[in-house]
Amino acid sequence: MSRFVSLKASSRLLNRRATALTTASIMRRMASSYPTSHAKIENPGKTQGYVNNQYVDSGASKWIDLHDPATNNLVTRVPQSTPQELTAAVDAAEEAFKTFKNSSILSRQQIAFNFVKLIRENWDRLAASITLEQGKTLPDAKGDVLRGLQVAEAACNVTQDLSGQFLEVSKDMETKMYREPLGVVAAICPFNFPAMIPLWSIPLSIVTGNTLVLKPSERDPGAAMILADLARQAGAPPGVINIVHGQAPTVDFILDEPRIKAISFVGSDKAGKYIHQRGTANGKRVQANLGAKNHAILLPDANKNASLNAIVGAAFGAAGQRCMALSALVTVGETKSWVQEIVERAKKLKVSGGFEEGTDVGPVISPESKQRIYDIIDSAEKEGATIALDGRSYTAEGYPNGNFVGPTVITGVKPGMRCYDEEIFGPVLVVLEEENLDDAIALINRNKYGNGSAIFTNSGATGYKFQKEIEAGQVGINVPIPVPLPMFSFTGNKGSFLGDLNFYGKAGIHFLTQYKTVTTHWRSEDAVATKASVNMPTHN
Ligand code: NAD
Repeated sequence: MSRFVSLKASSRLLNRRATALTTASIMRRMASSYPTSHAKIENPGKTQGYVNNQYVDSGASKWIDLHDPATNNLVTRVPQSTPQELTAAVDAAEEAFKTFKNSSILSRQQIAFNFVKLIRENWDRLAASITLEQGKTLPDAKGDVLRGLQVAEAACNVTQDLSGQFLEVSKDMETKMYREPLGVVAAICPFNFPAMIPLWSIPLSIVTGNTLVLKPSERDPGAAMILADLARQAGAPPGVINIVHGQAPTVDFILDEPRIKAISFVGSDKAGKYIHQRGTANGKRVQANLGAKNHAILLPDANKNASLNAIVGAAFGAAGQRCMALSALVTVGETKSWVQEIVERAKKLKVSGGFEEGTDVGPVISPESKQRIYDIIDSAEKEGATIALDGRSYTAEGYPNGNFVGPTVITGVKPGMRCYDEEIFGPVLVVLEEENLDDAIALINRNKYGNGSAIFTNSGATGYKFQKEIEAGQVGINVPIPVPLPMFSFTGNKGSFLGDLNFYGKAGIHFLTQYKTVTTHWRSEDAVATKASVNMPTHN
């Protein structure tokens, strides 16, 4: 199997040279050349940092091996950036801010326009990087890029989104209120959306005039590395977008570095609670999107065929590794008898390497994650649930060493069981039964998470009741994964979010900017005041 595809005849020579280079360096440099299979990489390279618009080698003493989840072959080594490298990234961002904050909004909007175009041109390359490092199927990886691209597109509307307020508050006296960038901001990203989640920060940071230090997940930084260089090509000046790498030491550096004003975190509860607590204690703004357990209610009046397809797709797509994966199904009344059809449809999904044509479900991120999912399925059995479809011990043909878990359906689940109480983050659907809508809504509202929730019904009135009573922050009515497009914000709530201002949309712009008010008084008469007033100004 060939590892690279060449789109242009003229790039053939380059491609031949490329096979002698590292995958990481190739994926960075050539929009027309990227991996197309899970073939073993002969000389896996090291991932570099990105500072001042340049890729920089790391002098790290600690390296994190990154394996292709489909094969567990080594893809690259990711550095634990050294303290000097981390400081250099913030130095670059701080220096860049001095001039970037004064750049015109139209020039920043132009960068966003160019960035959108470049992401489109590099779409396949970005997706290939994601499939190789993260494991999701190539079409799904393209969707990962698209959902991030849409944030970049929405960021182009900054001239509207940043417009302020103005009022003549008294004769010849005007107050204007507008928003200014914060300075150096940081983003700490999870593994499951290697392009989309960095793109929740990069374009908005640029258009608002901030400078960014971004830490991708150490498990799949390739897409973020490509995006940083696309931002350079789009016109972002040196120091505006910087990438650092690593685990807790990098995060602690970001949390304690006084020049970083705000942190956007997306990831698990454990890391997010810690980051929110320590970041806010250090006086920073923190927005933290956390874990989830997303429920769907299946009502007897629903369109059965469409609902079952939607449930299967949303439960097992991306191998269940979406924060908005539909992981808990609540059947109401007779729809419990429909679950067998969900099992039959789930059995038909093809589980294989993400580059393979027709694959529906790729591997999970790591052997540890696979083992944890197995353990949770084991626990469900022990706690009295039924494994209606068992994805344990699943081997994908041609991929004996991959982290594959087959689609799994667990029925007879109750709150208090580990498989319900914990986010599984794998291709596992747990099914609970209720006899009526009120009890189903009450069950969901008792759950600590509030990322998303869906209902399948053909009644508008029922959908409206659900919308009003459900406590989750993103609601779908016949929509299984109700993540809004970025002219809105990502509005998870309860245990799925810490902070005050959500990601992207108007809230995202607010998070990255602060208000300033200016009151001016230019007297229209040529007055020469001779006596000072010492009273509190009342603007009369
Ligand atoms: P994770 O918390 O393990 O990692 C996220 C980031 O935090 C990474 O950059 C990682 O290096 C860092 N990190 C991890 N442990 C840390 C620690 N102890 N101290 C400091 N930093 C630490 O999350 P993940 O496994 O990469 O991602 C999956 C999780 O993210 C799931 O829980 C999923 O629901 C959640 N997620 C939420 C959303 C959302 O919008 N709500 C979106 C995507 C993912």
